[in-house]
Amino acid sequence: MRSPIPDYLAEALSSVEADQSGATADYIPELASADPNRLAAALCTEDGRLYSQGDVDAAFSIQSISKPFVYALALADRGFDEVLAKVSVEPSGDAFNDLSLEPETGRPLNPMINAGAITTHTLAGPRGATPQERGDRIIDGLSAFAGRRLEVDDAVFSSEISTAYRNRALANLLRANDIIEEDPLVAVSGYTRQCSLLVTVEDLALMAATLANRGVNPRTGRPVVPAAVVRQTLSVMATCGMYDGAGDWMTRVGIPAKSGVAGGLIGALPGQAGIATFSPRLDVRGNSVRGVALFERFTSDMGMHLMEVPPPGPSVVRSRRVFGHGRLAVEVVSLQGSIRFAGAERVLRDLEETPPTQKRFAISLIRVGSIGDVARRMLLEAIARLTLDGHDLYLIDPDGVLPDPDPGDGGRVTVVGRREDIVG
Ligand code: GLU
Repeated sequence: MRSPIPDYLAEALSSVEADQSGATADYIPELASADPNRLAAALCTEDGRLYSQGDVDAAFSIQSISKPFVYALALADRGFDEVLAKVSVEPSGDAFNDLSLEPETGRPLNPMINAGAITTHTLAGPRGATPQERGDRIIDGLSAFAGRRLEVDDAVFSSEISTAYRNRALANLLRANDIIEEDPLVAVSGYTRQCSLLVTVEDLALMAATLANRGVNPRTGRPVVPAAVVRQTLSVMATCGMYDGAGDWMTRVGIPAKSGVAGGLIGALPGQAGIATFSPRLDVRGNSVRGVALFERFTSDMGMHLMEVPPPGPSVVRSRRVFGHGRLAVEVVSLQGSIRFAGAERVLRDLEETPPTQKRFAISLIRVGSIGDVARRMLLEAIARLTLDGHDLYLIDPDGVLPDPDPGDGGRVTVVGRREDIVG
């Protein structure tokens, strides 16, 4: 069978193609002359399958889409405390190049506006790195997100730096407030180079998929940043990624996202997929007109809104039955699905309301796909308490979905691969 997903993407592109509204960014001369008709979309699943349609080979500068990735590198390299001391995480409600600094501290309001992004640019790499070393760290890091070597577009860089009066002004103010510690012109030059990295819509989908996949590039298998950094980065994208349109975006589309003035737009749906679009004409907020329209379609067609509550699945407690007779009888509670806090609570409640009827009691995880950390600890606590109540506990866990099954003080559990191993 040929997958219908490419056909769906092609159909989505043709549904927005006629929209010629908006304009290419004109404050960077090289972008003003870009072909405004280009249009592409790509989707990469969290296990690395890439679908794309349209002008997939068109390369364009990453611009502000570099911001969340460089923020992630800064968090990974310097730690949360150092980065948060310099850049806050509050939506500004202002345009991307506004001077939005916190009144008391002088910190930029968030890392998605230029003032914050120039600051996080200076925080990538180890403390004391030279501008050259830091630039290399950023190119290497963004390349690891993309899974291939990215290159700077020198024409875009020269064009933007020749008119970067506003970013220089921002950097000078940041330096005056001791938010950045180095020469403001060096910081702006490095930041502008970062924004001039060339990407395709497929690169962007893969970069977003790396965020969706807890920081591991799903194609190369390479861990790029830790999961805690991804959580912070996606949270900031969700609240600040679409500039002054962030609230509107979160309610209508509901996918953590970031746009760039060259016309790129990414969205990362945790645990599912990275999505990217490319269309250079921008709306008044600086977001790609047809990119926003495509994301609105994707979210409603594919149910991608992060706040959409999934319908209840089957009960996590699938069955409870006694096998065997006499002293060798064993009661087996069979669990199913993916167990997180609410599922584990259901299991504990079941055991509280209906205590085990046999001395030998087994929890079968054969039909369980995954167990979150808190659910794991809750189940182990149940095992410890049942041991103290005088039961002999077994875990039927052939695939090891419950790692390190140590119930702690007083608890004891025997792990087996099949129910037959314990039924007398
Ligand atoms: N390099 C651009 C700037 O700083 C990025 C802005 C954007 O993509 O929104 O002006």
